[in-house]
Amino acid sequence: MTTDADRAVFSVDFELFSQTPAYRGAAGEADDPAVGLGAADFLRETLDGHGATATFFVVSSVAERHPDTVRALAAAGHEIGSHTHSHRLLSALDSGERRREVEQSRALLERVTGRSVAGFRAPAFDVPRGTFEALAAAGYGYDSSVAPCRRIPGWYGGEHDVRRLCPASRIDPDAPASLAELPVAVMPGVGLPLTGTWLRFFGVRYTLLGMRLLARRGIAPVLYVHPWELVDLPAVEGVPKRVYVRTGGWMRRAVERILAAPFEFVPARAVAADGVEAAGGTSPDSGSTTDPDPGPGTEADADPEDRS
Ligand SMILES: [Zn+2]
Repeated sequence: MTTDADRAVFSVDFELFSQTPAYRGAAGEADDPAVGLGAADFLRETLDGHGATATFFVVSSVAERHPDTVRALAAAGHEIGSHTHSHRLLSALDSGERRREVEQSRALLERVTGRSVAGFRAPAFDVPRGTFEALAAAGYGYDSSVAPCRRIPGWYGGEHDVRRLCPASRIDPDAPASLAELPVAVMPGVGLPLTGTWLRFFGVRYTLLGMRLLARRGIAPVLYVHPWELVDLPAVEGVPKRVYVRTGGWMRRAVERILAAPFEFVPARAVAADGVEAAGGTSPDSGSTTDPDPGPGTEADADPEDRS
């Protein structure tokens, strides 16, 4: 059963509407180049109102242009992670460009916030081979770019079967042992993410039910939203209708309801760090192994009920 002690992660992929693939591929243009930025105030106040701490995976070019917005989020106690520098798909880049995206964004976000950056999320859950090595080399401690969902044609999914925190080497055998993977929450049985588009399609009760089901399995659900989902989007010629579904007021109320659920909302970094400790530690002096015996709550895919 769900108790007050069950933890969940509320994460925000902090990008502008103009940086989404749907917008980039559209014919039209919005008058405001920073659609979505305004959601930062709503999120800060709403999280504060519920005593929740979140993780913001920030596109660092946004932090470069709007440092005060990102600084205010960090000052309110939220974790700042990286969502690359430019929000381009990593698989569209060569390995040098990919490395620069992860290095540059971490350095920039650390400079803006004055705090260390441990976490990374790739645009569109797209982590081509070699990404994990680049992340570890750049100093990240965990990645949260895996959506272990069914394959959604033309989109994502169907690749990975890890439902909970695990060493990133479970995803890519070349991943360094120091890097952890914290997958986003997927509905057991259904195999679709609990949030993003799916929250807007299926409603808040779908998300809340999934959170409870994962909590019963000892998994802290990792949710994600985008700031542009929370604002009243301008009509832009060529952006598909599905992008607009239930954005704005509906999503703001949805976020309120989710944060009111009986979960303790903690930063992704806290969940990732707990798992690493339970797995035997990966600090440089701990003599970590490449495949440590996973402790409770860190096993990747041994829960048969989770398979569908
Ligand atoms: Zn994104």
